[in-house]
Amino acid sequence: MSETSEKKESNGCAEFKKCLEILHLMLANEASSDEEGYFHEHIGNCMFCFEQYEVEKQIKELLQTKLANRPVPADLAATIRLKVFQSA
Ligand SMILES: [Zn+2]
Repeated sequence: MSETSEKKESNGCAEFKKCLEILHLMLANEASSDEEGYFHEHIGNCMFCFEQYEVEKQIKELLQTKLANRPVPADLAATIRLKVFQSA
């Protein structure tokens, strides 16, 4: 058999464009069950798309958390840094 597949393609997935479309539909809760089924089957075999999915999902959750709570002040990082310095 061939050993050429030993070196993985670093730029991911031949179906990536399609996967990304479905991924975004899923995040918007607009994917059909066919599309969702395809995607879940696909990420079972494709680590590249699986990672994209995890990243996008976490971004979405992060945004939802932020929207659910008060907007995070732009100077929050500075405030935290100040507190760390003060308690040190
Ligand atoms: Zn893929």
